[in-house]
Amino acid sequence: MTAEKPVRRIVAIGSGKGGVGKSTLSANIAIALAQRGVKVGLVDADIYGPSQPLLMRAADVRATATDKKLNPVPTPYGVPMLSMGQMVDQGRAIAWRGPMVGGALGQLIDADWGDTELLILDLPPGTGDVQLSMISKHKPVGAVIVSTPQDLALIDATRAIDLFAQASVPLIGLVENMAGYICPHCGERSDPFGHGGAETAAASLGVPFLGRIPLDIAIRTASDAGTPPVAIGGPGSAAFRMIGDRIAAWLNR
Ligand code: ADP
Repeated sequence: MTAEKPVRRIVAIGSGKGGVGKSTLSANIAIALAQRGVKVGLVDADIYGPSQPLLMRAADVRATATDKKLNPVPTPYGVPMLSMGQMVDQGRAIAWRGPMVGGALGQLIDADWGDTELLILDLPPGTGDVQLSMISKHKPVGAVIVSTPQDLALIDATRAIDLFAQASVPLIGLVENMAGYICPHCGERSDPFGHGGAETAAASLGVPFLGRIPLDIAIRTASDAGTPPVAIGGPGSAAFRMIGDRIAAWLNR
């Protein structure tokens, strides 16, 4: 009997540069969608700084292979995942050349994902050749771009928009991360990275705005502890869930 190949869709999460919360968003979106009953898997393509094994509490698990196909690693959050961090020893620098990177990333995506219907793809930061060849080859159905609110990050986000346009990948929308800091001591709100920049940019670029995640130290501590906010009903989880719902609505449109 030959099993019919399931139609599996890929949604790419990208950013113009590192450190804007792309991995945090990818993990929380994946968990939010799994909580809604979507059969979702997570691919950490951030080859030079894979952080998903830590976020998803699967850092000590090595990926195995059957018949030359990788087996995704289970996580406590109902989201199977694969990351380069599960292929190499933790802390070991990965010094690979371009073609090898492409081959390795392809194996993560073409793994034995079983009945997984949606793959969230946490792209490497930036808008270079690795990103372009990856999305051209694996054709995500849509892309989400994460940016912080300040101008420089938004210039990078605009480059990311161009990258997806070059590969004819439709843009699902833009997410603003690290918006509005509420002081844990006095409750006053401040905006270290500005406010509303991503929404304004989205409007002027004619790109949907998917939502805003607050800058909250508890988001970082929960993430570092391997308990993403959405998994524990922590800070920001309402925002992450709403963004997840908007992505799901886009997919079901
Ligand atoms: P990227 O994948 O874009 O490099 P990460 O998701 O790894 O970024 O986030 C970079 C750092 O910022 C991590 O330590 C993460 O926990 C933290 N972080 C991300 N989003 C937030 C937020 N909204 N509030 C507080 N810390 C955040």
